[in-house]
Amino acid sequence: MIDFDYVKARDVSDAVSRIARDPAAKFIAGGTNLIDLMKENVARPTRLIDITGLPLTEIEETDAGGLLIGALVPNSDLAYDARITKRYPLLSSAILAGASAQLRNMASTGGNLLQRTRCLYFYDTTTPCNKREPGSGCSAIDGFNRMNAVLGWSEACIAVHPSDMCVALAVLEATVHVSGPKGDRAIPFAEFHRLPGDTPDIDTNLAGDEIITAIELPAEGFARNYSYLKIRDRLSYAFALVSVAAGLKLEGGAIKEARLALGGVAHKPWRVPAAEKRLRGQQPSRKVFSETADLILQGARGFAHNNFKIELARRAIVRTLEQAAAGTPQSQSVKAIV
Ligand SMILES: Cc1cc2nc3c(=O)[nH]c(=O)nc-3n(C[C@H](O)[C@H](O)[C@H](O)COP(=O)(O)OP(=O)(O)OC[C@H]3O[C@@H](n4cnc5c(N)ncnc54)[C@H](O)[C@@H]3O)c2cc1C
Ligand code: SF4
Repeated sequence: MIDFDYVKARDVSDAVSRIARDPAAKFIAGGTNLIDLMKENVARPTRLIDITGLPLTEIEETDAGGLLIGALVPNSDLAYDARITKRYPLLSSAILAGASAQLRNMASTGGNLLQRTRCLYFYDTTTPCNKREPGSGCSAIDGFNRMNAVLGWSEACIAVHPSDMCVALAVLEATVHVSGPKGDRAIPFAEFHRLPGDTPDIDTNLAGDEIITAIELPAEGFARNYSYLKIRDRLSYAFALVSVAAGLKLEGGAIKEARLALGGVAHKPWRVPAAEKRLRGQQPSRKVFSETADLILQGARGFAHNNFKIELARRAIVRTLEQAAAGTPQSQSVKAIV
């Protein structure tokens, strides 16, 4: 049994000053990840700072024509909000491909970004894990690594980020608004999550004394030509083996703008700007999309149990781009037979 205090933050500045005073404390929002980590003895906060009473539950229009999503908007409210389904259906599809209805009702927008990896060994405190206990080693590299990374990994850690929502937010080039003792700042989505390098215990560039207040979506939502394809072991309630989010803008049949991100393959949603750039000006075709997949997966390397992810990702990229280009987005996720 872990002994911890519980307090409820009055407002954002109260939450920030409380966490700044107590580095061993943790914010709690929906609790769908943190409580599990505490039950497994992976997280041992001395204090829980409940942020569910903070006024971060609205979705507002921005002057730039986008939306500002409060960090405490539940995943299900976000997915079904009429402005999201109409203008950012990619985000709605990605959220609805994740977890279960009950979990999405509890899970918050901010918490989704900060959920921790599902690497088996991270949750198993009897095994070495550099992310859980820096310097102890990585059990996954020579262990059962079916769910682990094929891109961007390091010798210290081959974990993947498990979120579906974040893959869509990467394509939409969202901005993460945060508040801390030194004031407010905005972090571009591509810079929010980190690769593991030598410090896999640090998942993101959010400082320990900062709180996420909102996620901002720019005006462009790729509502006409998008698709989110999630391939997993069961049709619901399973994390992605590989997922792909794509947003295209077509003009006169040619690709004017292309964005693509992969989930389930790296420590952060994986984007390759050079591959997106190469799509611009091209006519959509299987050949062009296959070349794009090759470019994205250049340098991909798997381990004993997850090499299949590379070919799976290659095919998933082609299929997602074809669906996006045709304006026929994936309507449900796909069960892997591998
Ligand atoms: C069985 C199961 C299946 C799941 N399947 C999927 C899936 O398929 N796809 C998917 O994407 N997700 C999945 N999830 C994960 C789920 O989406 C996350 O657990 C959820 O989004 C986390 O949000 P939360 O509000 O509950 O976070 P919490 O558990 O409350 O917090 C998570 C972390 O974020 C921190 N935190 C929370 N809010 C803030 C904030 N505003 N500012 C700073 N720090 C904050 C907390 O301190 C904690 O460290 C699954 C979860 C479970 C339990
Ligand atoms: S892959 Fe990362 S999370 Fe998994 S055991 Fe290795 S260090 Fe830990």
